Amino acid sequence: MADTSLDTSGDRAEELASALARVEERVAVACARAGRPRTSVVLVAVTKTRPASDVRLLAGLGLGEVAENKEQEGGPKRAAMAAAGVQGLTWHFVGQLQRNKAAAVAAWADVVHSVDRERLVPALAAGAVKHGRVLDALVQVDLSAAPAPEQEGGGRGGARPEAVPALCDLVAASDGLRLRGLMAVAPLGLDPAAAFARLAELAVTMRADHPSATWLSAGMSGDLEQAVAAGATHLRIGTALLGNRPPLG
Ligand SMILES: *Cc1c(COP(=O)(O)O)cnc(C)c1O
Repeated sequence: MADTSLDTSGDRAEELASALARVEERVAVACARAGRPRTSVVLVAVTKTRPASDVRLLAGLGLGEVAENKEQEGGPKRAAMAAAGVQGLTWHFVGQLQRNKAAAVAAWADVVHSVDRERLVPALAAGAVKHGRVLDALVQVDLSAAPAPEQEGGGRGGARPEAVPALCDLVAASDGLRLRGLMAVAPLGLDPAAAFARLAELAVTMRADHPSATWLSAGMSGDLEQAVAAGATHLRIGTALLGNRPPLG
């Protein structure tokens, strides 16, 4: 269940402000090392499992991008922010997308990072069209060395690299969706720098066919530096901003 409570106590506000300052410092250093302007990287706060009050506090600190990984959590939180008069947030969906929930995600998400199977695309596109919206869509790539077993709702998700071109073409051709680029989670046990370099390579190939799909969503709390070095445009940061999640978050 989404926690839509809006209690914003002073302690939590200070905690989030100092966490944000620490993350901003890491991003600034990583950008400087990579010779990139800070403005080339968007910081997305992953607020999954966190109460709506945290979203409100982050918005108050000037953070405009928030991400959820469960369809049933994002909608209520977005509604709670609207009811509280918090304007101008961009909502990202970063969870495993299931076909039967795709249309519901399209009702509240502005950006979907996890398009990883062709059969999701018509459902997501139809949901967007039905709600009169155009979603920014990223194709999620599985960068693990060995293919994960085919499964709905398990694993870390992602299309195998060889499936990425056709999936990108399909997204680009769908009404209601705007192909923006690629997303990946660094596989457990793999050097994130190597994984993100591979992602960047795939992105170069993809842009030959889709020049406007320039977004690269990569980097979490533990590997944002490697992601910035590899050219990430969107960092998805949870624990470094919000603290440790409860188990099973
Ligand atoms: C939870 C999550 C994140 C944030 O991870 P942290 O390690 O807490 O920063 C990023 N991306 C995805 C897809 C997630 O599910």
